[in-house]
Amino acid sequence: LPIVRAQSSPDYTPDAQFYKVEAILRPWRIQQVSSALLNMGIRGVTVSDVRGFGAQGGSTERQAGSEFSEDKFVAKVKMEIVVSKDQVEAVIDKINEVARTGEIGDGKIFCVNFPICLVQRVSSERGELAERMTGGRTDMSSTTPPV
Ligand code: ATP
Ligand code: GLN
Repeated sequence: LPIVRAQSSPDYTPDAQFYKVEAILRPWRIQQVSSALLNMGIRGVTVSDVRGFGAQGGSTERQAGSEFSEDKFVAKVKMEIVVSKDQVEAVIDKINEVARTGEIGDGKIFCVNFPICLVQRVSSERGELAERMTGGRTDMSSTTPPV
């Protein structure tokens, strides 16, 4: 199947500065995905071990190993990435590209459409500065040094 490229996001919540991308992926793809995100300047990522079923219906995968499950739920990893609005499409495209095997069970990516009201870095910055990572995507794409 061809990769369906994400189009530019409708402005669901015009006032929102930040969105959360949630990707439910194969555990053994996480390392490649996080490296790819790191390379594009994404440094803030949270992962959790989760179990779920979707189109796959919980059936054992053709690939051997970690995703075997005795019940109908298959082990997945949920990756959560809070980014500024203008970085959402690039993050989704990258995850889609790297996480894909073409087999059933590749996972799903959600862009959470409620506003992240505020980002507060513990003990220091708030707002846009708190969401940015030093040397991160914003730095990489700007010509002027960060303030
Ligand atoms: P460590 O996690 O080792 O403390 P750090 O101090 O660089 O590294 P912080 O930037 O303080 O990490 O963030 C703490 C945790 O918050 C991260 O480990 C990550 O789980 C989560 N996190 C930070 N920024 C984001 C983001 N933009 N999106 C999702 N998760 C994030
Ligand atoms: N948007 C941030 C930046 O430009 C990166 C956010 C993240 O790493 N999750 O630095």
